[in-house]
Amino acid sequence: MSRLDDLAAGLATVRGRISGACREVGRDPDSVSLVVVTKFFPASDVRLLAELGVTDVGENRHQEAETKARDCADLGLRWHFIGGLQSNKAAAVAAYADVVESVDRPKVVTGLERGAAARDQVIDVLVQVSLDPPGAEHRAGVDPEQLDALARTVSGASHLNLAGLMAVAPLGEDPDRAFARLAEVRQRFLASHPAAVTLSAGMSGDLQAAIAHGATHVRVGSAILGPRPEIL
Ligand SMILES: *Cc1c(COP(=O)(O)O)cnc(C)c1O
Repeated sequence: MSRLDDLAAGLATVRGRISGACREVGRDPDSVSLVVVTKFFPASDVRLLAELGVTDVGENRHQEAETKARDCADLGLRWHFIGGLQSNKAAAVAAYADVVESVDRPKVVTGLERGAAARDQVIDVLVQVSLDPPGAEHRAGVDPEQLDALARTVSGASHLNLAGLMAVAPLGEDPDRAFARLAEVRQRFLASHPAAVTLSAGMSGDLQAAIAHGATHVRVGSAILGPRPEIL
């Protein structure tokens, strides 16, 4: 099987899982967008994915993302930055990213605004919410109690569009429970930010649970591209 066949098969399986999950909870399959996470995989795979109809790709490391976005600039893809953001790299990320999904503190907002302004474009921002139970060691994301303040900071930036929320289910917890908490956080959030309807949640292993709890975007890597190389 060629790489194109592999990717086509992975995409078909994942699209089938997405529509199955939608059907189960009475949602329109078109209400869930697929972001294919291409981190660790070469630009040649991004090209094949574009050929197969993929419109949105996700990357989590700045340098790799910047290079790939440049190599694939002719494809017209939407680039989602989904990784940990260093404040000194935020402006550089905003130079190529169309959506920054991992905003979790005010300090990165300044850099993103500067980068988006330099490019003279408005970019979409999702605030990453921590779903770790209180007291747990935090991986990434803002505490739900600080979400509103951070969302207001994003809204105040003229080149950033507050589009919604992003979350990752904590390791070792039933994703269904974690995403149920996310749905509650989102409901409160939407009361103050009614236009910020995007909810990016769910990956290869837990996309069904995320869709059941309202995800509008799922970020899927290994179920489409195969296992990532261990070291890179
Ligand atoms: C890598 C990554 C994904 C995709 O994970 P898979 O399990 O390979 O689907 C999704 N979201 C984030 C934030 C990631 O870093």
